[in-house]
Amino acid sequence: MSNKGTDAIASPYVEVALPVPLRRVFTYGVSDPFRGSLRRGSRVAVSFNRRKLVGVVVSGRENLPEGVKRAVDVAGLLESEPVFTPELLRFLEQAAKYYMHPIGEVLRAAAPALPAGAMKRLRADGFLDAEENLPGQRVAHHLTWEIRATDDDVGSVRLGARQKKLIELLRGRDSMFLDELRSEISDPRSVVRALAEKGLLTFKEVEANPDPFFRTPVERDVPPPPTAAQQHAIDAITDAILEQRAEPFLLHGVTGSGKTEVYLRAIDEVRKAGAGAILLVPEIALTPQLVGRFRARFGDDIAVLHSGLTARQREDAWQALRRGRVRVAIGARSALFAPVADLRLVVVDEEHDPSFKQDEGFRYHARDMALLRAQYAGAVCVLGSATPSIETYHRANEGKMHLLSLPSRATGATLPTVEIVDLRRHRHGPTGHPLLSGPLHAALGRCLDDGRQAILFLNRRGFSPSVRCEGCGAVAECPACSVALTEHRGQGALRCHYCDFHRPIAAPCVECGANEYHHLGVGTEQMQHAVEESFPNARVARLDRDTASGEGVEAVLDRLRTGAVDVLVGTQMVTKGHDIAGVTLVGVVLADQSLAFPDFRASERTFQLLAQVAGRAGRAETPGEVILQTFQPEHPAVRLAAQHDYEQFYGEEIMSREEVGYPPFARLVSVRVHSGAEADARNATQHLADTARQHQAVRDGAVQILGPAPAPLARLRGRYHYRLLLKSPDRKLLRNVAALLAARIDQGLPPTHATLDIDPL
Ligand code: ADP
Ligand code: ZN
Repeated sequence: MSNKGTDAIASPYVEVALPVPLRRVFTYGVSDPFRGSLRRGSRVAVSFNRRKLVGVVVSGRENLPEGVKRAVDVAGLLESEPVFTPELLRFLEQAAKYYMHPIGEVLRAAAPALPAGAMKRLRADGFLDAEENLPGQRVAHHLTWEIRATDDDVGSVRLGARQKKLIELLRGRDSMFLDELRSEISDPRSVVRALAEKGLLTFKEVEANPDPFFRTPVERDVPPPPTAAQQHAIDAITDAILEQRAEPFLLHGVTGSGKTEVYLRAIDEVRKAGAGAILLVPEIALTPQLVGRFRARFGDDIAVLHSGLTARQREDAWQALRRGRVRVAIGARSALFAPVADLRLVVVDEEHDPSFKQDEGFRYHARDMALLRAQYAGAVCVLGSATPSIETYHRANEGKMHLLSLPSRATGATLPTVEIVDLRRHRHGPTGHPLLSGPLHAALGRCLDDGRQAILFLNRRGFSPSVRCEGCGAVAECPACSVALTEHRGQGALRCHYCDFHRPIAAPCVECGANEYHHLGVGTEQMQHAVEESFPNARVARLDRDTASGEGVEAVLDRLRTGAVDVLVGTQMVTKGHDIAGVTLVGVVLADQSLAFPDFRASERTFQLLAQVAGRAGRAETPGEVILQTFQPEHPAVRLAAQHDYEQFYGEEIMSREEVGYPPFARLVSVRVHSGAEADARNATQHLADTARQHQAVRDGAVQILGPAPAPLARLRGRYHYRLLLKSPDRKLLRNVAALLAARIDQGLPPTHATLDIDPL
């Protein structure tokens, strides 16, 4: 590997990537003080259109570009060490090329934000004031109280409400930190002091990791001896790591088969070799349990990158990884950009999950880019899933990845039995609540009688997904988006799930002034009420975006784990990798809901959701049971998910993809145009379609053009969205046509805004 990237740039000019929506770099001069100080990946301050912008140096150059007479000089250097390592920068340049996205925007999306005021701290000569002020040089100190219960008898002491609550929270735990109490109890400091005076607890000031993922102490675990299938997978992966073969693997293991244990072992090998690893997970907020397992194995040798970090914490994590002080980065899709030193392994857990696709700004797919980054870094890439994406499984079948299988559960538990309930015959059960069918009601009753727990999955939050006016029959819609308003009964509001619009449910119909609504469909809030009414003794909780913003996901899951909740009703948040022993029943309230999307991946998505949620049941000794309610019991996605038959599903799905020519047999590029006026959006999209038709590959049919058509959500936050879809089995020709459109977009299409989406989801 050349070390050209690490060397200082001695040339008189540099190319700088700026965070502007233009697919190019900009030339700046290098004045004396900066000669020899700038490096590839350095962040610099430059003037651009009379503004000061932060850009990244990507290369040096000896002369000005043709036709350019002079260049402004770089105005300041914002860090003594480049923010990007050479390996990371090369990967990001390639990613920008692949997605045809402006390199400056890609680099800005990948780098941690500069600390506030960094620009202002530049001295007159363009250098930073003092080295200590540089990001990451300071060790973050965070002091908090660690609180422990004493053995004194609580029963004999009179306590106030907040004091009682704190004692309750402390029960059954070794210790807790003051910070954890802030969301539970107001002014926790005084409550702690009062209880200490009564002799019921002790506290002391300690230095703590400010990251909530590190608050609770975790005991080191004892790794279980691997099963034969696990051992085979671990060996294959670690051999590749140790022999430095940059090969990709697909780890296909049923739910509960011990994929995480394979990741842990492989990452451990990497650490023993003194190298680093990245683990990407779908949504970090939903996987505190997984982070706990990594801490139990690796202690503090992990950095968890998540959106809850402050800019300073993110910067500290970034520096720790770069310098190799911390070897393992864990996070959602953006952890793909972690500057892990000597990267040898990239793992993508639940690789099929749609959340790996970033759907605004720099639209990338973190799973696809994980493969690219690993390849560039000379690292091994492991994609893991119980329900691999069709594209990934196809790749493995073609021999482009090694396939490793874990066919049974690691603990010896069996996969749950699945009963399909045909909703055309069983709509309302004995209680009359819609979607609480007789069989589901009976299964819940049995589960609760046995003192076990259940999860009910329904992918719609709110009380009713829409409401219809009894007076005029109009469905209440958002004034800014082309969607129905969802009824949220607890909040007394009708809400748009795409913008902030909401209005009181008591307000009269905007069409006719009547004031009675007919509820259409069932959401999680209604399902929760239905279960509470049908089983008055059950403790029912809800997990969706409405409840998560209040109590927090972790707190809700904790209540399920500790047995404080009998039934958890929730959206797809309940389908992710939770491993809760007491859960023996999973009810899928409406299995065919996701089949309704006008998308060639609807069937795949449904199969994945159903198989994943079913996998939550019966993970311990007691066998699990799944009730799958559906209007389409014969649909392959439903039928085969019920039989846990991934191979069969894949076989049917891949055939139909081939027939209609969709990925992986063709590639797609989507062009998105939006504007405040519908005609403008439509005309600009039509213009781009006409532009594409000038290309030979479109004229002779090698690249197909679908559209222009209104986007699935034609109006969003008051703007009109149009689409054009380019499709071709020939990747090169498709990219040529896309490049032609990119060039046209770069010339500007006012008053519209147009973007490309390569490999759209
Ligand atoms: P997956 O990630 O494939 O869903 P997990 O890694 O969460 O599966 O493992 C499921 C359960 O099996 C966990 O409780 C885990 O501790 C346990 N487990 C994993 N490997 C083994 C093993 N080799 N022996 C015993 N238990 C195991
Ligand atoms: Zn709206």
